[in-house]
Amino acid sequence: MKTALDQACVVGVIGAGAMGAGIAQVAATAGHPVVLFDIDAQAVERALTGIAAALTRLADKGRLSPDAAQAAIARIRAAVGLADLRDAGLVIEAVAERLDIKQKIFGDLEGIVGEQCILATNTSSISVTAIGASLRNPARLVGMHFFNPAPLMALVEVVSGLATSEEAAQRAHLTAAAWGKTPVHAKSTPGFIVNRVARPFYAEGLRVLTEQAADPASIDTVMRDAGQFRMGPFELMDLIGHDVNFAVTESVFRAYFYDRRFTPSLIQQELVSAGFLGRKTGRGFYDYAAQAAKPAATIEAPASAPRKIRLGKPEKPFMPLQERLSRSGLDVSTDADDDVAGLVAKIDDAVLLLTDGRTATRRACDIGRDNVVLVDLALDFATTKTLALTRALQCSDAAYLAVVGALQRSSYAVVPVADTAGMVLMRTVAMLVNEAADAVNQGVCTASDLDLAMKKGVNYPLGPLDWADSMGVELFYRALVNLAGHYGEDRYRVSPLLAAHHWAGKPLRGAAVPAIA
Ligand code: NAD
Repeated sequence: MKTALDQACVVGVIGAGAMGAGIAQVAATAGHPVVLFDIDAQAVERALTGIAAALTRLADKGRLSPDAAQAAIARIRAAVGLADLRDAGLVIEAVAERLDIKQKIFGDLEGIVGEQCILATNTSSISVTAIGASLRNPARLVGMHFFNPAPLMALVEVVSGLATSEEAAQRAHLTAAAWGKTPVHAKSTPGFIVNRVARPFYAEGLRVLTEQAADPASIDTVMRDAGQFRMGPFELMDLIGHDVNFAVTESVFRAYFYDRRFTPSLIQQELVSAGFLGRKTGRGFYDYAAQAAKPAATIEAPASAPRKIRLGKPEKPFMPLQERLSRSGLDVSTDADDDVAGLVAKIDDAVLLLTDGRTATRRACDIGRDNVVLVDLALDFATTKTLALTRALQCSDAAYLAVVGALQRSSYAVVPVADTAGMVLMRTVAMLVNEAADAVNQGVCTASDLDLAMKKGVNYPLGPLDWADSMGVELFYRALVNLAGHYGEDRYRVSPLLAAHHWAGKPLRGAAVPAIA
């Protein structure tokens, strides 16, 4: 059975809502006859109309030939009952997210379809093991977790429950690949890969906001410009809907037996309670009323140029920042003559350091200087137009403004952040790296599938493990150790895999994991 489903094989789709309709469109476009069933006949009618319109639009845009679009539309037919799925070689279920309903459907299907038929669930949060538990033959049940909208999003998480056979997982994987998707294997664990590893993207932004260190527009700007994420966490949560995003966070939190790492945010709970669900209700973190202007990030006003910049010893993560300072036209030399770790430059009376998860105030004490300014991480200091800065409570205005002036002369816009540990991007990426390492450590997926999943499922600019390797595992390990020390919370505990690779000086990309059953 280690081949993709033959194109002539019928694909059954159960549930004609947002996901079922999208999956039916994908399977029909790939050449399969598709039978679509829903307990609500009108849902099927709506889905068929929607699919025809979507395929016609694709033909109008030249992405599909008109004949191919018409042929795909003609390949989908409505089922009157589950019995109409009897000839299917693969059935994908996308009904309401309830264990009892899904178990009943698969139980009924066992008496209808042939022995060779693969049964797949599109569940995003229910254990595939639990869905399969009531089946006569749970070996053929596998998760095929598509992302919304299914015709556009490349990723499919192929999820194996405890009883899922390797043949069923391979067949689902090969079939998804044949449909032009990017499949990854995952073990059935809460949130699978993407919905688990992405939690800190929202959670750390929410923590920074909770501590009033920066406003949503400033955090979003730093994450977009310096982090190269397509959207910042607040605009993305507004788009997803706070009801949906909060429910996923709560469900992952509960499913991991209330592991503090996944603790939901009170700020988001308040939004849900108020009915401020984001774009769909016209208000979330931002106001979407027609006349409302989107708030801009807080940016430092132009400051005077400093007299003198002395660069510190070049370190890989911030060398491009030092190069930009060198090209600023200011008086720059390379004689900082100081062995403070993470020293980017001495700028007049200030010491500019890359954040390492400690606050600027704490670091000022640790190195015995008052005028300490920290710069947040950037994925690429050479090209980013924005950087976040923070300063120690002891730091003078003049010292801080000298740094602002130096960065502005180097063509950076400066977003001020109050002195919070790990600032904005550093703490978020460190926590993404940590969660990614932990998922690999627990055998949820391979290191390469993890990075692929985050790039294809949520459009991250780089997989978290690749990000750690390219900047140095040490950087994120230290940030997490310091965050854990600062907060004293289990939330920031370091993944054993990240710690091991830090101490061994080995990249995470090649991290060895147990084989997936
Ligand atoms: P939806 O509410 O849009 O559609 C669900 C459809 O299932 C409805 O048309 C409903 O009439 C039908 N249905 C309910 N019970 C049924 C039954 N017993 N038999 C046949 N049809 C039945 O939901 P959706 O957003 O398409 O989600 C479907 C599944 O996909 C859920 O398991 C969800 O967790 C998962 N999922 C959703 C998304 C997303 O972003 N919406 C992404 C990935 C996975």
